Amino acid sequence: MSTTVSKHQNLIGGEWVDASSGETMEVLNPSTGEVIAEVPRASAEDVDRAVQAAKKALVEWLETTPGERAQMLLKLADVLDEHAEEIAELESLNVGKPLSYARDEIPVASDNIRFFAGAARVLEGKSAGEYMRGYTSWLRREPIGIVGGIAPWNYPLMMAIWKLAPALAAGNVQVLKPSEQTPLTTLRFAQLAAEILPPGVLNVITGDGVPAGEAIVKHPDVRLVSLTGDVETGKIIARTAADNLKRVHLELGGKAPVIVFDDADPAAVAEGIKIGGYWNSGQDCTAASRVVAGPKIYDRLLEELVPAVESLHVGDPAEGEEIEMGPVISKAQQERVLGFLDRAKGATVLTGGGTNGDRGFFVKPTVVVDVGQNDEIVQREVFGPVVTVQRFADDNEAIAWANDVNYGLAASVWTRDVGRALNASRKLQFGTVWINDHIPLISEMPHGGFKQSGYGKDLSAYSLEDYTQIKHVMAKID
Ligand code: NAD
Repeated sequence: MSTTVSKHQNLIGGEWVDASSGETMEVLNPSTGEVIAEVPRASAEDVDRAVQAAKKALVEWLETTPGERAQMLLKLADVLDEHAEEIAELESLNVGKPLSYARDEIPVASDNIRFFAGAARVLEGKSAGEYMRGYTSWLRREPIGIVGGIAPWNYPLMMAIWKLAPALAAGNVQVLKPSEQTPLTTLRFAQLAAEILPPGVLNVITGDGVPAGEAIVKHPDVRLVSLTGDVETGKIIARTAADNLKRVHLELGGKAPVIVFDDADPAAVAEGIKIGGYWNSGQDCTAASRVVAGPKIYDRLLEELVPAVESLHVGDPAEGEEIEMGPVISKAQQERVLGFLDRAKGATVLTGGGTNGDRGFFVKPTVVVDVGQNDEIVQREVFGPVVTVQRFADDNEAIAWANDVNYGLAASVWTRDVGRALNASRKLQFGTVWINDHIPLISEMPHGGFKQSGYGKDLSAYSLEDYTQIKHVMAKID
């Protein structure tokens, strides 16, 4: 059966347009390696067109009230829900994620939009006052202006929503670039949004990191760049943005530890890792990828974990609803993940460790033991279905190992002892700490990294602070 190749355009100033060069690029189905779509390959010229359209739109957008913007955002959430099945199918096809998982993401994304629609109406500031005799001072919380959003491939639509919802709710306009590998749901969402938002408020351009992403970061009229992506990309963007002192919001990689104390329930932990470590084929910045287990529970945990991982149904999500894990995103990512395993000399692969057939970009769900704290596979984000398990000697070593990486995005602690859990949550240097679970996030609470996992928060009212700036107005009153 031959696959239909859909053709797409960019959304600039409310118009659907090709790249100015006419160049296109192919989008693949990672489960089969087949081409499923062609999208514009944008250049710096296209980015400039999008920024000019955003600039024009900003004039009117700045006049809208939070309530008026909320009305539009609530409509966006509604149309997303109305098209949930179609968008979930498209996400499943483009990312290779099981359909039921893609379905679960849509109400989460529409809830994010609804949260920001409401939260932007209740932003708080310091009350006005006379801090100098004869003068009244007050604060205005204002939008930043044109925001560049640059998204990754693992949760394409959800990451786009995390960027556009707080930015638009706070009164900014946006030029958004989805990942070159997974632009389809963002483009479809933009079609729906174009019926609701004024032209130029949301512009979507597809293209490579360089030149398209780079051009967003370099553009002097873009005042903030929000990236979700790799640590190295974050460093490049922060360096590039330094040239015109652009603000940068960075949600980067992670290497989440899962601390399993001896008193934890091994079956519950194994189930938690089966979900948290292999969800989205382990391509999750908070993936439960690095288990450190107590001396007494280590063997029992592996007895539970290995069969749990082997029970995962791996395959092309198109095969049916029973599929629990699809491929990784690309051939390059497959090779990258397998490269970590090849280089992990001295390690023991208890299950998995290779490809799953030669069609598509699959890696078997893998559990690795006999690894040391300084090993590459323990220190660096694999971003694939690979979980390492280490045995710690005591609580202090557990916390020290957990913190001993450059990343600081998320961690989990598994124990029945409340004091132990709370003590660990205090000592762990991560932006999110879960107790007896791993992975859930909610719109009301912030998500963001410590250390090299980046700075700035997604979700929650804290995110709105990143998308606004404070102005002091001072009036002479006598
Ligand atoms: P990536 O860094 O390769 O790409 C992310 C985006 O940046 C893409 O749109 C890409 O085109 C763009 N880009 C690449 N080089 C650029 C440059 N020089 N200038 C401007 N833009 C550039 O990341 P990825 O491989 O798509 O995604 C995986 C990474 O994202 C992982 O490291 C993962 O941990 C991270 N991630 C983090 C979070 C979080 O919330 N912290 C969430 C999801 C993914």
